Amino acid sequence: MEQTLKSWSPIIPKSTAGDHWSETLRHAIRDPLQLCDRLGLDPDQLPGGRQGLQQGHGLFRTLVPEPFLQLMEPGNPQDPLLLQVLPLGSENQPQPGFVTDPLQEQQANPLPGLIHKYTSRVLLTTSGACAVNCRYCFRRHFPYADNSLSEAATEQIIHYLQQHPQVNEIILSGGDPLATPDARLAKRIRQLEQLPQLKRLRIHTRLPVVIPSRINDELLTWLSATRLQTLMVLHINHPQEISPELEKALARLHQRGVILLNQSVLLRGVNDNPVTLGNLSERLFEQKVMPYYLHAFDPVAGAAHFAIDDQQAKRIYQQLLARLPGYLVPRLVREQPDQPSKTPLGW
Ligand SMILES: *Cc1c(COP(=O)(O)O)cnc(C)c1O
Ligand code: SF4
Repeated sequence: MEQTLKSWSPIIPKSTAGDHWSETLRHAIRDPLQLCDRLGLDPDQLPGGRQGLQQGHGLFRTLVPEPFLQLMEPGNPQDPLLLQVLPLGSENQPQPGFVTDPLQEQQANPLPGLIHKYTSRVLLTTSGACAVNCRYCFRRHFPYADNSLSEAATEQIIHYLQQHPQVNEIILSGGDPLATPDARLAKRIRQLEQLPQLKRLRIHTRLPVVIPSRINDELLTWLSATRLQTLMVLHINHPQEISPELEKALARLHQRGVILLNQSVLLRGVNDNPVTLGNLSERLFEQKVMPYYLHAFDPVAGAAHFAIDDQQAKRIYQQLLARLPGYLVPRLVREQPDQPSKTPLGW
């Protein structure tokens, strides 16, 4: 059964009040051995051992901020939050069908910083950085260095949008867009909102989940100032990720009129059962967050250990449908190259 109350106490002090999010990010754990040490885990007892940890880390570096670490259960190598960030030696082994760009996004990348795949909305890759490195991430191989939203890139994007008047929504994505300082984000939005065709601003982010203090006054100020309707799509995979600090942050966003949605990735060992997913939807709704997408796993190289085949995904989904009111069921989807939208599965 799902645990709703943590039965362990934090092993480390809570970050101090007034802590700035970028300080928290600077002090994030970046060493897989330190990660194990903090959780009281013996690296030699993990699959692949100490060497495996280092191999995985060499492929995609470890990054875990303190507030996210505090939500993990010490001494539990199967903790669902730990599994999302723990490097493994097996990431090194090529698996047939697992590729570096499963979505073929590089083909839909007409300009630096812009992905235009679906007619009415574009993704802006605001920052290559994230505040946490998720092992299953389909962007782990994406060439982000070319994709930060500079002044020159923004001008080109504005020009492109003028040529594509059917676009009425911009999506800040990444990496994680909230890894970018507020002054820069605020400036970009002031430039982009001059385009009369734009109605909505959407932000796809995991940052508030791993560092809730990211939802600070500066962010709320520019979010409130834009004429665009604003949505935030969070990325929460497991109910244990919803901390009291995150709840406070979500309440502040909700008070400012930001529409809150959540997307999850269906991950083996993390949330691949209808009880966990059902609890997640219930917990999200308590915080006024609507479940949006449940992504069928993308076959990204290095992440085969999270894979769930479509048959099994559909079975889990049918059970989820039977547990929840329709509005709490996220749409099970896959993103496929050359499709005009995400592809629904499982109905
Ligand atoms: C997922 C995605 C979007 C947003 O799709 P919605 O169905 O509107 O949430 C937009 N562009 C790209 C490239 C995407 O992958
Ligand atoms: S925060 Fe999002 S983009 Fe960044 S590594 Fe995790 S899943 Fe990938």
